Amino acid sequence: TREWQLAARPHGEPTPDDFRLVELDRPDPAEGQVVIRMLVMSVDPYMRGRMNAGKSYAARWEIGETMRGGAVGRVVASRSADVPEGSLVLADAAWRDVAVLDAAHVRVLPELPGIPPSYHLGVLGMPGLTAWAGLFRLAEFRAGDTVFVSGAAGAVGSLVGQFARLSGASAVIGSAGTPDKVRWLTEELGFTTAFDYHDGRVADLLAAAAPDGIDVYFDNVGGEHLEAAIGAFNEHGRAALCGAISAYNAVEPPPGPRNMFQMVSKKLSLRGFIVGDHTDLQPAFAAQVPEWLRAGDLVVRETVREGLENAVDTFLDLLRGGNTGKMIVRLAAE
Ligand code: NDP
Repeated sequence: TREWQLAARPHGEPTPDDFRLVELDRPDPAEGQVVIRMLVMSVDPYMRGRMNAGKSYAARWEIGETMRGGAVGRVVASRSADVPEGSLVLADAAWRDVAVLDAAHVRVLPELPGIPPSYHLGVLGMPGLTAWAGLFRLAEFRAGDTVFVSGAAGAVGSLVGQFARLSGASAVIGSAGTPDKVRWLTEELGFTTAFDYHDGRVADLLAAAAPDGIDVYFDNVGGEHLEAAIGAFNEHGRAALCGAISAYNAVEPPPGPRNMFQMVSKKLSLRGFIVGDHTDLQPAFAAQVPEWLRAGDLVVRETVREGLENAVDTFLDLLRGGNTGKMIVRLAAE
């Protein structure tokens, strides 16, 4: 089997030299273990934090250690009655093509007709629940709200905007990094309006897109976007602080929003969250989102790259915005 290991800690933007692909002997499964042939693996922005020496909310990767992340695969051999051969499973598996894991550490997935396994890494998985928890719990979305989401053409953002639209938002505004992404938001996802944040100051672009102000901001980006949202908020505005990808490769901490006093004058609430603390929402999420999918109400797009050997390039490209929707690495055909 092959796996990716962290070779060095990046300074700023990571490079391919920070990673190494190694060949390993595959151990035989012990009692209670399963052998999984991985079909798809996820690359996610939070993995950038795991490359750093400092503390991040997910455990950091050590140099020379396997890099771990979400993956979906088929059990090809099993020594556990709970996870029989042939099961489709989700695992925190490492960037590898075949994994031998304790059955207790994998989740057996339902076989949903017409749903590709990769959806369990996106719309039906961690990014989907993140969108759900952030919008409905942290930002306390209510029908009639005007919602602004940054990183809107990504895995989480594309769902936030659609969940808001399907739940009665009065307007949904998105920002993204290319004209194609902006077109996709308005023409296919049903965003009311969208802009490319390269086209000017975000505060000006947002003021033009939301002349009557915003009630909810779902922040995937931080920095200038957060400052612009604070400026555009109506009274009692609410933000879910989900990520700050504009700063992940920064060597110096970027300047914070300069208008924080408006938190006071507008009586705003900005709440940070980590999806792992909100798994109690999983039943409500799992009751609604597959239903929206079946009804054809949700547009789901993935950017799929082939092969474990391309996992690092795919991850680096994700950080640069090379994806529309969820970025996926396909490791094997079903
Ligand atoms: P995405 O699919 O949105 O991919 C990342 C995107 O970030 C890129 O496509 C790119 O799109 C955008 N981006 C990169 N650099 C910048 C920049 N300087 N300014 C603005 N946008 C930039 O990833 P996810 O949907 O998986 O994650 C979105 C955010 O949510 C991330 O911040 C992530 O860390 C966070 N997150 C937080 C969780 C939590 O529990 N709190 C859980 C999951 C995700 P573009 O072309 O538009 O620039």
